[in-house]
Amino acid sequence: MFKKGFLLFAASFLAVLILAACSNEKSSTPASEDGKVQVVTTYSIVYDIVKNVGGDLVEIHSLAPIGSNPHEYDPLPVDVQKTTDADAVFYNGLNLEAGNSWFDNLMETAGKDGEDAPVFLMSKGVEAMHLTTEGNEGEEDPHAWLDIRNGIKYAENARDGLINVDPDNKEVYEKNAEAYIAELQELHDKAVKQFKEIPEKERVLVTSEGAFKYFSEAYGFQAEYIWEINQENQGTPEQITRIVDIINEKGITGLFLETSIDARSMEAVSDETNVPIMGKVFTDSLAKPGEDGDTYISMMEWNIKTIKEGLTK
Ligand SMILES: [Zn+2]
Repeated sequence: MFKKGFLLFAASFLAVLILAACSNEKSSTPASEDGKVQVVTTYSIVYDIVKNVGGDLVEIHSLAPIGSNPHEYDPLPVDVQKTTDADAVFYNGLNLEAGNSWFDNLMETAGKDGEDAPVFLMSKGVEAMHLTTEGNEGEEDPHAWLDIRNGIKYAENARDGLINVDPDNKEVYEKNAEAYIAELQELHDKAVKQFKEIPEKERVLVTSEGAFKYFSEAYGFQAEYIWEINQENQGTPEQITRIVDIINEKGITGLFLETSIDARSMEAVSDETNVPIMGKVFTDSLAKPGEDGDTYISMMEWNIKTIKEGLTK
């Protein structure tokens, strides 16, 4: 009797010790068994920037799938689990993840809504631009990353967030970020140079969603669109008529279609105006791994090339 009771006591004591050891480990080093920092990102572009800065030190679970529109997302049970367990969460902000409040709700469910939660805003320091459609003027436009100078800010914020949760590897994150930022700077300079070769009045970019505000300001374009922000994925008849009139008035010769948006509205605009769709551009998602546009740098390179060629033909 004594022996059995003692064994039971010893077993539960051991269990408590093991539990304590586990939770202790979790709070002192931000890592799973394989030693990597567990990261959650909200969509593929943030994923890629954090990956470039974190390198092999991070393991990333990204939420909105490649090819989808991250304005709206329904987190799966696995997302809730990964977010609960994550050492760090990175999100775009500027209203991107605001559809149905999916991101705020997820942070709350995952216990990451506290002030000290390791949740990092990638667009910190970006000068926000706002929607212009009547009634929405107070809303921030999320698509800051399409100006590569903002992509550099995202990389800096990724670096600072990772250093915050994993200070032991500060130097690695700093070194990775520095090399990555140098590449981004070079790409930005190339974009400025390439687009200058398009006559100024021909620098008009027509897309489905008005995602090119930051881009247009950075690279000297006028941005036109069917609808201003992805709330729906189809244009209304009024929106189609509006853009058709603009295209005819301005004598626009080429349209562009985003990879993460249903093609039908832009095809209807093309049919109605006889202006061709010159190519696909990336806005809210990377391409699938292995395809052109599968990194932030590669998607921006693709956009620069497609827009330059489409408007100089
Ligand atoms: Zn968008």
